[in-house]
Amino acid sequence: MRLFTILKNKTSFVLDWVYPRICPECGKLCDRAARHLCWDCFQSIELYREGLCEKCGQPIEGAVHHAFLCGACRKHPYAFDRARATAVYQGVLSNQLQAFKYNQALWLKEDLVDLLEGGVHAHYDCATIDLIVPVPLHFLRLHKRTYNQAAILAQALAARVDRPCDTQSLVRTQQTATQTRFHAQQRLQNVKGAFRVVRPDWIRQRNILLIDDVMTTGATVGECSRVLKAAGANKVVVLTVARGK
Ligand SMILES: [Zn+2]
Ligand SMILES: [Zn+2]
Repeated sequence: MRLFTILKNKTSFVLDWVYPRICPECGKLCDRAARHLCWDCFQSIELYREGLCEKCGQPIEGAVHHAFLCGACRKHPYAFDRARATAVYQGVLSNQLQAFKYNQALWLKEDLVDLLEGGVHAHYDCATIDLIVPVPLHFLRLHKRTYNQAAILAQALAARVDRPCDTQSLVRTQQTATQTRFHAQQRLQNVKGAFRVVRPDWIRQRNILLIDDVMTTGATVGECSRVLKAAGANKVVVLTVARGK
């Protein structure tokens, strides 16, 4: 094991020399071991800590020192038990998440999973999670894009926190229009009935951590959670890398 670690370190040293890791955001040499974003860019990412809606994680204006439910959660309760995002969707993070999702920048995986791993430990208790499930892509979109960014993140997170990952039980049965052009109400309608649990045995009575790259209105993760709960999930909590402020 030790020899392997030494060899691995030597290999990465040689590879760094042959192919230096350049930060995709600022173009400087990356100074974080086995990562791509440099330390300056990585630490410019703003994390969510406090002042959030108790349920959906929506940031609240001003200082809040007590449990608070936002307007959206009071009006239309989401099916998940809780949702949290690690960081704010802006600047470095929005640039790199878009590159990861649409431009095949899969080398950013470990940088992004650093954020997810931090988010799990900050907002949840890993010991209570039975199964990690990514938000699925419709197979036609998966075929076109060749990978599901949420599944890649969920699998890498599962390996880090030593929990099982299930990319098969929850599927997307309708190819919905991209959410980005829609308002909150349209987003809800757009994803309604788009997901299905095909292996309920895997879901029943489980405490599930649902993973996606970005949360906007919560319509997508809310609908996935509704379907998981309908299939018998005990608890569904959501974690995304980012969320708009
Ligand atoms: Zn940088
Ligand atoms: Zn809320």
